[in-house]
Amino acid sequence: MQVTEIYRSIQGESSYAGLPCVFVRLTGCNLRCAWCDSEYTFSGGRKMRLEEVEGEVLRLSPSGLVEITGGEPLLQEREAVPLMERLLALGYTVLLETSGERPLERVPSQVVKIVDVKCPHSGEFGTFREPNLGALGPQDETKFVLADRADYEFARDFTRRHELAARVRSVIFSPAFRKDASGARDSSHCLLDPQQLAQWILEDGLEVRLGLQIHKFIWEPSVKGV
Ligand code: SF4
Repeated sequence: MQVTEIYRSIQGESSYAGLPCVFVRLTGCNLRCAWCDSEYTFSGGRKMRLEEVEGEVLRLSPSGLVEITGGEPLLQEREAVPLMERLLALGYTVLLETSGERPLERVPSQVVKIVDVKCPHSGEFGTFREPNLGALGPQDETKFVLADRADYEFARDFTRRHELAARVRSVIFSPAFRKDASGARDSSHCLLDPQQLAQWILEDGLEVRLGLQIHKFIWEPSVKGV
């Protein structure tokens, strides 16, 4: 498979946020989100055999959390699914971060799927694959990255219409982060003020989790591989 990087850091944007985690970042994405902070994964990387990826994960951490991410990892489904199966068999908790556009049916059911639903100002609105709703289970998570009120209202209405809060472990509403963010490690780089988002969530009585990309508050926001 084509791999951009494998590293150990702190999980930053799910209900596992804050926990140590090994990241396997696969190369390539078929979408072009406006606020994407992973453009360096669109090309390059190096070819690795499944055994090499597994060996590197084991070297970095013999147990715990592993996240398969990208780019869009399911573009390499033929290799990524067996990798997830092997990591599960080794006893890891396996997270999969995916755009919502790729089919989820072949992802092993024990994998925690963290699935984006792209909002109106993402640049990739309408790419969510609705049959994926049927593949979501109680351990999975859905994530909406929000740049403004229109994005919020879409996320709110989608969450209610599909009763997401009853379907998955977490529905995450996360302010979009400026992709050229640098310098201060604070919420001034968020396109939508987290305080404003908190107010809307509380006013509307939503059972959702306000998510912040905590790695952007721990490390310099422009640093990769953290
Ligand atoms: S799906 Fe993810 S990796 Fe692909 S363009 Fe969007 S944010 Fe970037």
